[in-house]
Amino acid sequence: MTMNSKKDDLTIGIVGAGLMGRGIAQVSATGGCAVKLYDVRKEPCEEAVSFIEGMLNRAAEKGRMSAEDASAAIARIEIVESMSAFADCDAVIEAATENLDIKRKIFDELEATVGENVVLATNTSSLSVTTVASSCRHPHRIAGFHFFNPVPLMKLVEVIDGVLTEPWVTDFLVDLGKRMGREPVRVADAPGFLVNQVGRGYNIEAAHLVTDGISTYADVDAIMRDAAGFRMGPFELMDLTALDVTHPATELIYQQFYHEPRYRPSHMMRSRMEAGLLGRKSKKGFYDYSGDQTEPAAAKETPTYDGRPVWVSSRCPDARGKVLDVLRAGNVAIDKGPTPSDDAVILITPLGTDATATAVAEGLDPERTLAVDTLFCLAKRRTLMKTAVTNADAVTAAEAALTADGVPVTVIQDSPGFVTQRILGMIVNIGCSIAQQRTALPEDIDKAVTLGLGYPRGPLAFGDHLGADRILEILTSIHELTGDPRYRPSPWLRRRAQLGRSLLTPEA
Ligand code: NAD
Repeated sequence: MTMNSKKDDLTIGIVGAGLMGRGIAQVSATGGCAVKLYDVRKEPCEEAVSFIEGMLNRAAEKGRMSAEDASAAIARIEIVESMSAFADCDAVIEAATENLDIKRKIFDELEATVGENVVLATNTSSLSVTTVASSCRHPHRIAGFHFFNPVPLMKLVEVIDGVLTEPWVTDFLVDLGKRMGREPVRVADAPGFLVNQVGRGYNIEAAHLVTDGISTYADVDAIMRDAAGFRMGPFELMDLTALDVTHPATELIYQQFYHEPRYRPSHMMRSRMEAGLLGRKSKKGFYDYSGDQTEPAAAKETPTYDGRPVWVSSRCPDARGKVLDVLRAGNVAIDKGPTPSDDAVILITPLGTDATATAVAEGLDPERTLAVDTLFCLAKRRTLMKTAVTNADAVTAAEAALTADGVPVTVIQDSPGFVTQRILGMIVNIGCSIAQQRTALPEDIDKAVTLGLGYPRGPLAFGDHLGADRILEILTSIHELTGDPRYRPSPWLRRRAQLGRSLLTPEA
């Protein structure tokens, strides 16, 4: 069976005219489809049509589309009063409230209305597509069609094959997505599908870094923005999406994966959600948005370099080179001896091990040792990590030396993997486990994550960029030191790192 997504009179039914339904209606209409929009309440439909009208008229005023195309698209949207109006639709997209009982009732009514070969799709973001389809008479024609908010701006759409979905259904939805101007990515039904799985790596690991007492929210955000190149830090992002949206989704993915440790939430998130610290929408989350702070937070004073020599471990020559470049740029006195002189502050550059374990393994004085994170380049922010006993003088001296050329430094407590190594290790590993489980093709994993989450690179390309062997070393070391199975490396990562191949290499 094949379906023609290109035919002129293709008619799409949409159930639910809320935030997502109206966006899907807009891109369907601009893609040249006739749209029938239904909601249990009339108001959301009317609001949706006037919202779309406003959007398209503005697009025409700004010259992004012609006035004729805008009015033709608006004219293609019809509000209908019952689902019986969907009888002549080629496909129906359900975008109603996220509740399994509501969705099951909708699909039951749809099946009673439309023919057996009409494609039915759900825009659910957290329910299993297979579960939604399981009570249907013809589950083979039901698939996931997962758009992102705001739909007209977010190009990605995940096209999800349920266990019983027939390929012609998802083939059609991929073509329909293209007709709507989207970038479809095909994904097998799995908890969190693709993008929401990878997004957990960013949020969950960041939350654990704070609950483990390693760093503050603001410092984690600054490190991830400045050092790792993310547009927003994980806590800023959670404040934007709201904790009562992010945290229940995290808990659900963890439960649906039968407590897979990689997705284990931090208890801190539930407590903060229950306390109402939801983010921007409640005016207080990880940051304060009430606007009534009278005094700006005092800026931290940067210590001035006082000439104390700095000795850098030569255990990792590349990392040592990066640190020496920074010290030279700040005119810092470098102790070039084979072992540190008595007054030198000591810098080490661990991958996946903590500062204490590394100082002990290298036979260095832990009281004047600090670790520098060299996973990323050191151009915009540097992270210094103390051992459990580094003295305050050594911290000040190391911070002064590393910031002598004007680049800011963040000091954190001891943790295997610093901040960037833990978070990137987790993101790359989750990307690899998605590839290993055949949830999506390697290149589609990266495409979906860059489009859906706006990360600077997809997880597999990130792993290649940073070095799959380094990511493997980071995860193996953290796993050994903590004993936490959350960090066990995916076989996909291990094999490609061992072979020296790209993480995008598909299975033979
Ligand atoms: P919303 O609350 O804005 O809209 C839901 C609409 O469904 C409401 O207008 C409601 O009246 C209507 N509705 C409820 N029961 C109905 C029924 N029986 N028949 C017809 N209409 C019914 O919600 P939303 O954010 O648009 O989410 C809709 C779906 O899209 C959910 O499954 C959600 O998980 C998914 N989704 C949401 C986002 C997001 O960022 N909001 C992103 C991707 C997917």
